[in-house]
Amino acid sequence: MSLDISHLGKRYSNGVQALSDVTLSIPPGMFGLLGPNGAGKSSLMRTIATLQEADTGTIQFEGIDVLREKEKVRQLLGYLPQEFGVYPKVTALGLLDHLAVLKGIRDGKERREVVNRLLQRVNLFDARHRRLGTFSGGMKQRFGIAQALLGNPRLIIVDEPTAGLDPEERVRFLNLLAEIGEQRVIILSTHIVADVADLCRQTAIISQGRVVQSGDPLALIGALKDRIWRKFVTPDELSVAASKHQVVSTRRVSGRMALRIHSEAPPGDGFEAQTPDLEDVYFLAIHSQGEPVEAVAA
Ligand code: ADP
Repeated sequence: MSLDISHLGKRYSNGVQALSDVTLSIPPGMFGLLGPNGAGKSSLMRTIATLQEADTGTIQFEGIDVLREKEKVRQLLGYLPQEFGVYPKVTALGLLDHLAVLKGIRDGKERREVVNRLLQRVNLFDARHRRLGTFSGGMKQRFGIAQALLGNPRLIIVDEPTAGLDPEERVRFLNLLAEIGEQRVIILSTHIVADVADLCRQTAIISQGRVVQSGDPLALIGALKDRIWRKFVTPDELSVAASKHQVVSTRRVSGRMALRIHSEAPPGDGFEAQTPDLEDVYFLAIHSQGEPVEAVAA
């Protein structure tokens, strides 16, 4: 039941090459699509969601040719776009009921059951009579998941869902996603490395339209064992050290500048061994594409 993307390419009419030769096999469970802003994540998500055309390549899901058989894909797709507009004056119950009709659930009794169950699922049942305009960011996103789950889709696409959520809302939202993640393909696109590290069994990192790394996050982190080193530096020391080593990132730790580098052998020079994490994987992958070292992950 994997989603198989092969040699996908997309150039916009303004000349931007948003996707270049993207090949990925996405198994059931949570899949994290990571990349900096402008990397091509939304372009890829919109293409899978049948909302835009690709120039080259193929996408297959459960025997369906995604780029050609759009109607079939839409039958089994749940999509939470980056900008999920809600009608502020409509209640949660009213809008979800309306969307259920559009999804083809015509029988009133069945629809009531489905809608109520989904509202309970995303913990909005008690707020069902409230107008959507009064919802917090986290509540809106959970409502977005409820509508994406209508029709029990086997493929769910969630584009940058945690941007703008406070930490508590973010955790709650991610836990909800993880719960619904079994037995279906869920693709979560994000520029927040921690979202993927916490949740996803598989990940791909894209930069400038290309897949620069992919696999099981734990295996990717494991491959950096004994290769990440850290030293606290002043701005002057930073430029000297950066010219001598392969820089992974500079992070502020308790107000001090921590330089992390990649080295197979102990670099000496006051560097201490560090436990690698997914941010190290991420930065190394996107730097290999020429993204600036100062790029931040969150
Ligand atoms: P991400 O979701 O990773 O931020 P996008 O897929 O939105 O990346 O964008 C990838 C690149 O394509 C960016 O350079 C962006 O400016 C460009 N782009 C996105 N959508 C369009 C469009 N409709 N027309 C022209 N260029 C676009």
